[in-house]
Amino acid sequence: MDLKNKHIVVAGLGRSGVSVARFLVAQGCSVTVTDNRKPQEFQEILPELNALGVDIELDRHEETSFANADLIVLSPGVPHTIGPVVSAKAKGVPVIGEIELAYHFLHTPILAITGTNGKSTATLLLGEMLRQSGFNVLTGGNLGTPLIELIDHQEGVDFIVAEISSFQLDTIDRFRPHVSVILNITDDHLERYTDFDDYARSKARIFENQEVNDICIINDADPAILAISENLTATKFAFNCAQIVDTRAWIDGQTLWFHTPDDGDQPVECSGIPLKGRHNLENAAAAGLATLAVGGTMAGITSALKTFEGLHHRVEYVDTKNGVAFYDDSKATNVDAVVRALESFSGPVVLIMGGRDKGGSYESLKPQMARCVKQLIVMGEAAEKIEPVFKDMVPVAWVRNMREAVFLAAETAVSGDTVLLSPACSSFDMYTSYAQRGDDFVRSIAQLTGR
Ligand code: ADP
Repeated sequence: MDLKNKHIVVAGLGRSGVSVARFLVAQGCSVTVTDNRKPQEFQEILPELNALGVDIELDRHEETSFANADLIVLSPGVPHTIGPVVSAKAKGVPVIGEIELAYHFLHTPILAITGTNGKSTATLLLGEMLRQSGFNVLTGGNLGTPLIELIDHQEGVDFIVAEISSFQLDTIDRFRPHVSVILNITDDHLERYTDFDDYARSKARIFENQEVNDICIINDADPAILAISENLTATKFAFNCAQIVDTRAWIDGQTLWFHTPDDGDQPVECSGIPLKGRHNLENAAAAGLATLAVGGTMAGITSALKTFEGLHHRVEYVDTKNGVAFYDDSKATNVDAVVRALESFSGPVVLIMGGRDKGGSYESLKPQMARCVKQLIVMGEAAEKIEPVFKDMVPVAWVRNMREAVFLAAETAVSGDTVLLSPACSSFDMYTSYAQRGDDFVRSIAQLTGR
């Protein structure tokens, strides 16, 4: 890709947008950066952007800037469906995303992971499995370091493991991972896609440039994935953690099995691993298959699973008071993540939900709600949508903030119960991120316990 002297518009000034601007300036391009947020949100970065000599357009997306570009690079936060992008595209201006741009400059094989839930966990776990197998690995993408920042660090690297979101897949063209993984597809982001099929088609783009010597790893128990992976060119490896069928990886009790062509069926005992919940065994199955696909070892898979602690705010144990354990699952921003979190607990749960609704239905939570939730506490904008769905099956209480939620939960719970923050919603009605929401939960628990 020859970028020299090209005029490029970079839309969206999050971390990846800024990195793209830096990269393009270094390539000799003239760059306009644009974001519809207000200038005061960019105080920290403006001096650097000015020093780079880029044109800066904030608080708006200027139609003419997009229309006059040789290329538009979109950040994942900017939908490819906004007016200025659609009309520039209609005039023939190419539109790509950061991962597509990075792909043209990465010469290291990429293992790309997508799915509605589990991407971050599986990405870091796969990175660990490969490292424990003796490889030199970089991880990044939607989580951590944007791919564009990895370009200068490829020396001596065997593999790049990349978390890829559907928003990033919306703006690929030739992006072709050597190994692709789809963990699951359930309702999410219906505020941005027309419907579930539209969202699933976006996920399916991870396969679209793969060739026969590439590998795709799919969840055989997920009907939406089966539907989009029928006619793939890449070689398909399936895992199924719902039942024991003829796949490359499956679960029997607490044992994860892998079928290896050379050594037959190989077990990994998972009863004592730090990762909690059956959903994490699915992540482990997918990551393990990806490891084996590129020459990693069973020993590498086993030792990574023994040591990998998981990430903050994903069904993370916080503290115990009076026999009541508190868990932070603030990253559960859709309904299926909450279903899977509840499945991880056998005893009664006081569940804290709510935040900004994402346009889906809460109905699929009903079986788990009936099985184990003794009290539902709702907060934020979505409280009024959530309460009517469950009020006939479980007591529902409204609170105004996290502190009230935690203190009410502690009053309601008795020894042996679990208090779980698993919101099923995004955090943006009250917080800047899921992490800030989780931190507020942890702080409120500290106020409760006095620790
Ligand atoms: P992502 O990067 O896709 O958002 P994370 O690993 O950050 O995934 O986890 C997000 C939420 O999804 C957490 O609540 C976590 O417990 C839950 N989760 C993780 N793996 C899975 C899975 N395989 N299926 C369903 N939910 C999962």
